[in-house]
Amino acid sequence: MTPEAQALLTWYDAHRRDLPWRGISDPYRIWVSEIMLQQTRVETVLPYYRRFTDDYPDVAALASAEEGDVLKHWEGLGYYSRARNLLAGARQIAAEHGGAVPSDPAVLRKIKGIGDYTAGAIRSIAFGQKAAAVDGNVIRVITRLKGITENAAVPSVRREIAAQTEALMPDTRPGDFNQALMDLGATVCVPGTPDCGACPLAPFCAGLAEDIAEDLPVLPDKKPPVSEDWDVLLVRCGRRMMIRRRTEALLRGLWIFPMLPGHRRGDALRQAAEDLTGFPLRSLKEVGEARHVFTHRIWQMSVWHAETSGEAQPEGWQWADAEEIRTLPFPTAMKKAREEALRRLTDTAN
Ligand code: SF4
Repeated sequence: MTPEAQALLTWYDAHRRDLPWRGISDPYRIWVSEIMLQQTRVETVLPYYRRFTDDYPDVAALASAEEGDVLKHWEGLGYYSRARNLLAGARQIAAEHGGAVPSDPAVLRKIKGIGDYTAGAIRSIAFGQKAAAVDGNVIRVITRLKGITENAAVPSVRREIAAQTEALMPDTRPGDFNQALMDLGATVCVPGTPDCGACPLAPFCAGLAEDIAEDLPVLPDKKPPVSEDWDVLLVRCGRRMMIRRRTEALLRGLWIFPMLPGHRRGDALRQAAEDLTGFPLRSLKEVGEARHVFTHRIWQMSVWHAETSGEAQPEGWQWADAEEIRTLPFPTAMKKAREEALRRLTDTAN
């Protein structure tokens, strides 16, 4: 075992975070946890993980679930393509591998939604294989430890980081080694100023020795998210509101209220809203504003309420009562609009 691995595992044994996906070797649960943890904080994931694995305890249970139910379990966690891919992957494993998550790397990589990182995490943690799992935390630790100053977003540099990680990895406890690297990156070798005084890798760290750790990893400048204006329409007919299930790539499968791009007022808004919904609208008034930040875009939303007496089911839309609006999966971007819709549907004064 390399001295770096020895030092890291000793530190991990003393500092490991006690999490429900730690100390287990069930590849399904490790897969679920790794997918949930992508782009998401541990504290946020915990209740979702518990509920998800309680209701879908294995591949077979998930594979037979409805997509709407799975999205409901994911509601508020964001990046919903993760949930859709997890479901598709579970169905694939149920159909092609009898419900057992495969351990062969080439087979594992063919499962929907399992990329290099997730495959490495499942292989090392569940199956004890020596495989790197290079996420943002590991990139930060390894580029600092090895003093890698090339752009870490470039595939060849990424491969170099994975190779350096595997070169340090011990034959025993490769899963613990990967999780220790992730924990170190999350708690000690943090973005900005690392806490090198508390780091077990300090004696081996080129970034610390050369005083360049704070500048690593080198990554391309992120483009700022694009701001988009939307008018969100709470179109009410009696005790129901108009909603639809999204088919667009962003938030696909989740339910939303009618949305118009841009911010309109007066007759221009009424005309566009009637064209979109297919109904004459009355009492159109603004009832709130909302903002939601995605990775690459920001929705700046004005929320409007209007009444219609149109009874027919509009093409592509659905009338939903308060109970349906409460239970169907809506994205967090619609949180404020949904609260307003529920308030209006349940408050007879409105
Ligand atoms: S010594 Fe500092 S820079 Fe190097 S790995 Fe540890 S925390 Fe990161």
